[in-house]
Amino acid sequence: MHLSTPYDPQNIFAKILRGEMPCLKVYEDEVCLAFLDIFPQGPGHTLVIPKVAATNLLTLPTEALGPYMTSVQKVARAVQRAFQAEGLTVLQFNGAAGGQTVFHLHFHLIPRQEGVGLIGHGQAGKASEEDLISHQAAILAAF
Ligand code: AMP
Repeated sequence: MHLSTPYDPQNIFAKILRGEMPCLKVYEDEVCLAFLDIFPQGPGHTLVIPKVAATNLLTLPTEALGPYMTSVQKVARAVQRAFQAEGLTVLQFNGAAGGQTVFHLHFHLIPRQEGVGLIGHGQAGKASEEDLISHQAAILAAF
């Protein structure tokens, strides 16, 4: 998937936005939807996606960037609080060559603790339903 490949409305995050696929939602406002990554690189790994149909950071309309990043920061603060995280890793990939696998723009927010390594991008297994539900509850309670 090249950086300038047109947006595919059938991508999985577009389906989540339209309610055609489930997600473990932790936050929503007029510009974004945030939900848990079901293949987390660490506990509480959260994705924040804009509601506007943008493939990657380069194709997001510039006027949408400020409001979206404001929401990313709001979710980041809740994720940090929920896990009393000592650190927070923010990842964002563009184009297949850049490591992107779902072609709707998203920021990854991963709470971190001192001395605990990060599972590699694309190397994590599916989280248990039990863990996901408990992490979702913790984040929801942290706003
Ligand atoms: P990227 O490689 O940056 O495009 O990240 C896509 C992310 O979406 C990966 O971390 C996947 O684990 C995650 N992912 C894929 N499908 C789903 C899904 N149905 N629900 C939640 N996260 C997903």
